[in-house]
Amino acid sequence: MNRILVTGGAGFLGSHLCDFLLDRRGEVICVDNCFSGSKENIRHLAGRPAFEFIRHDIIHPLFVEVDKIYHLACPASPIHYQFNPIKTVKTNVMGTINMLGLAKRTGAGILLASTSEVYGDPEVHPQTERYWGHVNPIGLRSCYDEGKRVAETLAMDYHRQNRVAIRIARIFNTYGPRMAVKDGRVVSNFIVQALRGEPLTVYGDGKQTRSFCYVSDLIDGLHRLMESEDLTGPVNLGNPSEFTILELAERILERTGSRSAIIHKPLPQDDPVQRCPDIRLARERLGWEPRVSLEEGLDRTIAYFKEKLNS
Ligand code: NAD
Ligand code: UDP
Repeated sequence: MNRILVTGGAGFLGSHLCDFLLDRRGEVICVDNCFSGSKENIRHLAGRPAFEFIRHDIIHPLFVEVDKIYHLACPASPIHYQFNPIKTVKTNVMGTINMLGLAKRTGAGILLASTSEVYGDPEVHPQTERYWGHVNPIGLRSCYDEGKRVAETLAMDYHRQNRVAIRIARIFNTYGPRMAVKDGRVVSNFIVQALRGEPLTVYGDGKQTRSFCYVSDLIDGLHRLMESEDLTGPVNLGNPSEFTILELAERILERTGSRSAIIHKPLPQDDPVQRCPDIRLARERLGWEPRVSLEEGLDRTIAYFKEKLNS
């Protein structure tokens, strides 16, 4: 049996992961409360015998028999995770305890989708897994940042105390088709604005940097990490090519051919100034590195949103 649970499976990354696992003959149980994800993302999988969807909120216990758990359930966009911050903490703490408890009972290996946000506004650049981070524990982003840090702590403690086989992926900004039109993250915002002829909203001066990973690269990395031997500690997964947000806006205008203006809006609280993964560990231990360039990834994502906005 190779029955795999994907929490957050109706979300952006989760739905691509369900596709990937089903293509490799996995039997997939997708669990989601559809807060920031949508059944639309998995509609094409309905009717496949190896696929099952359960609408369930992971802050409540879940009883299923599985061999592997990819634990992705948690809103990822600042708009979504700040909508109900207490719920975000509950999802990260109670939800992760429930999923680790499930892993303990069933003997399943579990991969936690953590985030580059555990590094906060980093003082070390690029960020290696050994860096402990620089996080504001009481700010607007902390429900997510600290929530994920506790989720990592829980994973390590379940491993040390109960010998649960855990993997921790520290995911850096990832983009691609199936991001929601109203997701609020920068790539989808800019593409939708450019296609609609609306101004691109750059927060602050736009000199802050991010590194953008295309979704297929990230899913491949998650799978390699889950299947790896003996790699318990956190592993960065992301694209090390770093761009300023202004550069991203200009690329998107170029690739869409849009004549939208660029306007500036206030920078959100605690917005990290610089972010770029050091992926040496993933390269060495997983033989993984991103293959899709920003141009190629943007073109695929633009094509998706063009169709979405016209339908
Ligand atoms: P997303 O919002 O599209 O997906 C998250 C999914 O989890 C949604 O379908 C949502 O409905 C579901 N969910 C949220 N709370 C839940 C709950 N209590 N019970 C059940 N389901 C719940 O976001 P995404 O980009 O696909 O992110 C997936 C995971 O990857 C998240 O854990 C996120 O923190 C992590 N991550 C993503 C990125 C990125 O750039 N995409 C970066 C770092 C980390
Ligand atoms: N951002 C922006 N305009 C937008 C959305 C986001 O300038 O319409 C900026 C945001 O302030 C941040 C960067 O883009 O500096 C990435 O934001 P996102 O929400 O995508 O991810 P995160 O901040 O979590 O990396």
